[in-house]
Amino acid sequence: MADTKKVLEILRAMGRTIANEKDYLTRLDQPIGDSDHGINLDRGFQAVEQKLPGMEGKDVGSILKDVGMTLVSTVGGASGPLYGSAFMKAGAAAAGKTEVDAEGFLAMLDAAVEAVKKRGRAQVEEATMLDAMCPSLEAMKEARARGEGAGPMLEAGVKAAWAGAEHTKDLVATKGRASYVGERGLGHQDPGATSYAYLLETIAHCIQ
Ligand code: ADP
Ligand code: MG
Ligand code: MG
Repeated sequence: MADTKKVLEILRAMGRTIANEKDYLTRLDQPIGDSDHGINLDRGFQAVEQKLPGMEGKDVGSILKDVGMTLVSTVGGASGPLYGSAFMKAGAAAAGKTEVDAEGFLAMLDAAVEAVKKRGRAQVEEATMLDAMCPSLEAMKEARARGEGAGPMLEAGVKAAWAGAEHTKDLVATKGRASYVGERGLGHQDPGATSYAYLLETIAHCIQ
């Protein structure tokens, strides 16, 4: 599915996606947060991009660990440690690998979801990034169980991630800044769930 060269290509593409959607993600963070989600992630992915040339020739685990540490130290806010630990744990699940297959990718996402749940002390249906992460992972596992290849598997995941992000409009947030606005947050899409859907979509575009 992806060798280290492809992983670096995906990370570069993620940076471009976040840069393109920076303003939209920041706008989503306005009514329920502090208007910085896109700005935070863009700062982090720009820092990652600076490091990519030095990552060539490393294994996938080391690359993603480095990405996670870079995000933790540059993104800030709630999403920095959350995305940071997601990438670090995904990296730990791919330790020593120079090639990731569909099963390996699902194991990496399992580790990423666990990291966010643990770090954020959160579950699904709390209007966070987990509402895009969890249903998309489930959809990809189901696609895999049906015997789908990486492309259709990712397609199913992206569809579920966007549906999950959309669904956060119907949820009252109980974690993060959005929990401060309570029911006034209804009707507003969670920025973190949205950025996750964009990141997964970027992976899918690079793999097909
Ligand atoms: P901050 O809220 O500190 O300004 P960001 O705006 O960058 O940080 O990120 C906000 C996003 O982080 C939310 O939209 C949500 O998806 C995610 N988030 C916040 N708290 C949690 C948590 N406890 N668990 C999971 N995700 C969370
Ligand atoms: Mg914010
Ligand atoms: Mg903030």
